[in-house]
Amino acid sequence: MMNQRSASPPKANVLVVDDTPVNLLLLNQILCRHHYKIRVAPNGKMALKSVIANPPDLILLDIKMPDMDGYEVCRQIKADPRNEEIPIIFISALDEAIDKITAFNLGGVDYITKPFEPVEVLARIEHQLRLRELMVELKSKNAQLQLLLTTSESINEAVDIDSALAIILEKVCQTLGWDFGEAWMPDDSGTKLVYGQAWYGDDAKLAEFYDYSKTQDVFQCRGFAARIWQEQDLKWIADASQEESEIFSRADRAATAGLKGMLGIPILLRDSTTQENSQVLAVLVFFQKDEMQPDRRSLELLQAVASQLGSMIQRKKTEAALKKANLELERLANLDSLTQVANRRRFDEYLDREWNRGQREKHPLSLILFDLDYFKVYNDYYGHQAGDRCLQQVARSAGSAIARKTDLLARYGGEEFVIILPNTPGSGALRVAETIRDRLKQLQIPHLDSPVSPWVTVSLGVATMIPTDSEKPESLIAAADAALYEAKSQGRDRAILKDLLPHP
Ligand code: GH3
Ligand code: MG
Ligand code: MG
Repeated sequence: MMNQRSASPPKANVLVVDDTPVNLLLLNQILCRHHYKIRVAPNGKMALKSVIANPPDLILLDIKMPDMDGYEVCRQIKADPRNEEIPIIFISALDEAIDKITAFNLGGVDYITKPFEPVEVLARIEHQLRLRELMVELKSKNAQLQLLLTTSESINEAVDIDSALAIILEKVCQTLGWDFGEAWMPDDSGTKLVYGQAWYGDDAKLAEFYDYSKTQDVFQCRGFAARIWQEQDLKWIADASQEESEIFSRADRAATAGLKGMLGIPILLRDSTTQENSQVLAVLVFFQKDEMQPDRRSLELLQAVASQLGSMIQRKKTEAALKKANLELERLANLDSLTQVANRRRFDEYLDREWNRGQREKHPLSLILFDLDYFKVYNDYYGHQAGDRCLQQVARSAGSAIARKTDLLARYGGEEFVIILPNTPGSGALRVAETIRDRLKQLQIPHLDSPVSPWVTVSLGVATMIPTDSEKPESLIAAADAALYEAKSQGRDRAILKDLLPHP
């Protein structure tokens, strides 16, 4: 049976404890006339049993009773934390001296004297019930705020939607005392729901239920989650383990896991212009081992969390898309389109940064500047397009020769490339330069018109210095350029190092 009403609060349940039958009768009459649900107990023992079996909303408690007096009954009720908040109003005869101090110390909230004045009895009861309701309301509002606060913090910290959902499932289950929570999400095609996150306590049966559930997809029009997806509305089933498989296909499994009550709620994304719900982002389904009869407060809390989750996820999605677009833009702005290595802009930026770091940390900074040998001739012989392809091959090969993440290969311009090697001495940079030369040779890109080799070769200038205040990055480039010039003039296809480090 699908239950879609929100439960209306039943009229308060009052327990009357008195050893005098005529008093019980009288109070019964007064309260029944005002539609209270009333239970009676003729002595303390029965009263305690009745409270344990079904805690009332309020207790009228006679003080003077044989065996166990009202004070003792009160003390025992209040000793159980589950019952300590039930308001207790003491009853005493006018001629009995009521020990008000003891009564209030024990947790009594008020007292009524016999003979009863019906108007007064009702007023006192109503006043206490109202107070109690306000207290509960306040507590639940507090719990609600607390949950909203912690979930919004967690969602903001969550790196993606999956982890945000996982956090919500856990917090909601823990706050509302539910045993199992799961999230279903529409797949990219939007034609079926896919099992996403789940939360459950340490329980092998629930783990089994999860293991089975995560293998499930929900196709359109079938199952509980799919109905919530389509109708975009909160629903619950008091005992899902008894449902027909058309409504809930995992009923058998839920029964095995000891789960009964089930409640589902959609997480909706609002269209920012029309403010109408435009898309179901996820369906959250919760289970508990008891029958599901959610009260108004739990439902309100759940709706608040769902709506907050929806808007926060929406914001996260927008942020993520924006971040991705920005990163892509940045990547493009820093990339050489022909060779896909860093461009000159990125090189300038990186060199400045590493220059400053080297200066602070007094680390050597190395630079390799290299240039293809007789590339003009290559273009003339093989054509400009082959020249472009050759540059791409050279860039890829050089990229494979640099080992450290902090090393940056960039196209310096034309057929010239440059590598920044932070925290690297000249010897290390020279080794990298030789590796580049070797690897390129191994590629054996034919260059039949080259005077130095049948293959494409490069000349490399390497320079190293510890950046100082008095110099600029340009001096490192100039030194590498001078080394490159020397490599060219000494016959090309070689690497020359200009080590500007102070040597003792
Ligand atoms: P050297 O050994 O002295 O470096 O001789 P070189 O011919 O390589 O040097 P030069 O500076 O005389 O010529 C560089 C040539 O590189 C000129 C130009 O056609 C070619 N070049 C520069 N950029 C590109 C490019 O993006 N694509 C192609 N295909 N060729 C380029
Ligand atoms: Mg050149
Ligand atoms: Mg050249």
